[in-house]
Amino acid sequence: MIDKMSAVVYTAPNEVTFVKDYQSTQQDRDDDVLLRIESVGICGSDMHAYHGKDPRRKPGVILGHEFCGEIVGGKNSGKIVTGNPLITCGVCSYCLQGRDNLCSDRDMIGMNRQGAFAQYMNIPEKCLVEAPKDMDPNHVALTEPAATVVHAVDIAIKESYMPIKDCHVLVIGAGAIGLLTSLLLKSYGVKMQILETNLARHQCVKEHVGVSATNPITQSVKNEEFDVIIDCVGSEKTSSLSFEAIKTGGVIVNVGLQSWTSSVNIRKLTLQEIKLVGCYTYNMEDFKSALKLIRSGDFGNLSWVKEYPLSEASFAFNELHNDRMSSAKVVLRPHY
Ligand SMILES: [Zn+2]
Ligand SMILES: [Zn+2]
Repeated sequence: MIDKMSAVVYTAPNEVTFVKDYQSTQQDRDDDVLLRIESVGICGSDMHAYHGKDPRRKPGVILGHEFCGEIVGGKNSGKIVTGNPLITCGVCSYCLQGRDNLCSDRDMIGMNRQGAFAQYMNIPEKCLVEAPKDMDPNHVALTEPAATVVHAVDIAIKESYMPIKDCHVLVIGAGAIGLLTSLLLKSYGVKMQILETNLARHQCVKEHVGVSATNPITQSVKNEEFDVIIDCVGSEKTSSLSFEAIKTGGVIVNVGLQSWTSSVNIRKLTLQEIKLVGCYTYNMEDFKSALKLIRSGDFGNLSWVKEYPLSEASFAFNELHNDRMSSAKVVLRPHY
């Protein structure tokens, strides 16, 4: 590990602190490689931790798990990579089935290992996926949220009775996950409606997805209207809205986890054969597909990503906290 570097530490609820000469206490492991972090995204789960609502991410930790970096040292030195932040065991039945996201013996970057809101970070080599050198680092850093979306849309495709392009789809939320979901669905030619309460984001949805977003607080959403619903918020309100808006035989894919418990309309679920499917992160295959899809332009031009130097992390977190950020994704650049 590098002796001293700039890093952003989560210090207390609603507070992150930029530290110029951070000294890591994390032990290097044999299979670790050192990355020079080029770009790192602020995730909804980082915000959740920032609000003091994630008991797994405690003060003192360096958050951040959506990164693009350059390998420093070793035989692969100089290669540009992104990586799967879930460090799984590789030997349990889930890992062997390729469903490594369900491994229970896992660590995570930016949770119980040092994260990427720093100039350097260690990560096991097996987590890394190489990116083309000419790709914009901010786009490479989007691979992790895009992989979540690839996984979610894949579940919708597998569980739906009809081909996805013939489905009327409701996407709830137009943060990074909701927006990327909408963009991927657009590439399939899907007809959709998008819900977003933050009006600052409506223009971005219009410009990039070509759909006028609906504000569910002031506009009503039709009942029994959608074949597939992808809930990227996961609050009690959105889950009850989903159960009203889903058609008989429809599929609800739950991605967001704003609330950890919600009530389910078990009567409708049973009598109308609604499928409610949970969706957690991605497997290594989703991760590789996501990078390819970003590269090939399936998510559009991604010009909505907004960057700040790492030293302005505190400002960026605060803007996100106050819903003042019109951009669905903020990335930090540690070497500016
Ligand atoms: Zn994330
Ligand atoms: Zn495992």
